[in-house]
Amino acid sequence: MKRERVAVIGSGPAGLTAALYTARAQLSTVVFTGKTLGGQISTTHEVENFPGFPNGTTGPELVENMKAQAERFGARLVYESVTEVDFSQGTPFTLKTDGGEVYQADTVLITIGANPRELGVPGERQYVGRGVSYCATCDGFFFRGKDISVVGGGDSALQEGLFLTKFGRSVNIIHRRDELRASVALQTRAKSNPKIHFTYNTVVDQVKGDETGVVKAVMLRDVKTGQVTEKATDGVFVFVGYDPNSWLFKDQLALDESGYMKIDHHMQTSVEGVFAAGEIHDSVFRQAITAAGDGCKAALSAIKWLGEREHLLQPLDAEAV
Ligand SMILES: Cc1cc2nc3c(=O)[nH]c(=O)nc-3n(C[C@H](O)[C@H](O)[C@H](O)COP(=O)(O)OP(=O)(O)OC[C@H]3O[C@@H](n4cnc5c(N)ncnc54)[C@H](O)[C@@H]3O)c2cc1C
Repeated sequence: MKRERVAVIGSGPAGLTAALYTARAQLSTVVFTGKTLGGQISTTHEVENFPGFPNGTTGPELVENMKAQAERFGARLVYESVTEVDFSQGTPFTLKTDGGEVYQADTVLITIGANPRELGVPGERQYVGRGVSYCATCDGFFFRGKDISVVGGGDSALQEGLFLTKFGRSVNIIHRRDELRASVALQTRAKSNPKIHFTYNTVVDQVKGDETGVVKAVMLRDVKTGQVTEKATDGVFVFVGYDPNSWLFKDQLALDESGYMKIDHHMQTSVEGVFAAGEIHDSVFRQAITAAGDGCKAALSAIKWLGEREHLLQPLDAEAV
């Protein structure tokens, strides 16, 4: 069994930032990267709102820099997913991975994020970053003067749709029912915005691109008549919900009704010594910089927590330190 002072589960902006801080505090730190090194941000081409890059950067470059910075101070990346945890006995905590290894860690930082729900239609994945987006704050700026489609009928769809009117020439909100689920106040604002149009009882069947590889149209199906029409659009923003990756912890840590992790002001979960950061607890801000900030906070809390228990911790094998 391998022993560490700190186990970070997840390698998105929250996880890599947390690892930078704990490793730099001279604590042996292992990071389980999961299937996506760098998390969601690694899948996007242009990142213009992460401070420190006046000319913007790409998701992969940002991730590579964060990884290199954490590794520089000794964080050890393990390219496996955690499949089982045991928090029931308190510290040290036990973790198993899909590589068949068992680890013990004095403290655990959970940063496994959330996934935007996809439509699951042809073309959607192919055009992510080329017209398909799940984040208006991240990508709205790229759609200045464009015709934008928004899919969804809840608060997020309307809130983000309203935000997109700052950039787009028009915003068409496509909703599969005949009524919106969003709050009345948001509906009133959206309906009185001259740039916003609504297409009800309709689903997107396909996202189509042009010869340059960017989105040019959506195939829309009227769910009542079955009629399919092609509608020209420059962008498709999908807001049909988010799924936090919390299933692994559902019997061990307190989650809210949507599956997000409950934490206190020090980023501590319902188990002492287990901290959480980033989108696994944050259903509101969903930005790389807020996840990174969270990772920093969780790491500082973990460093303090370990410091207060230094006399109780078992020494690590010399080679693991
Ligand atoms: C297409 C796209 C474009 C975006 N563009 C921007 C942008 O321009 N600017 C911006 O600020 N934000 C952007 N975002 C949002 C930003 O990427 C997220 O807010 C941020 O990545 C959240 O970070 P996180 O560390 O909380 O989680 P995530 O990035 O979701 O990372 C989760 C990590 O957990 C790992 N993991 C999952 N399960 C396990 C497991 N069982 N064991 C081990 N590891 C596991 C995953 O492999 C991943 O490494 C974008 C998001 C998307 C999807």
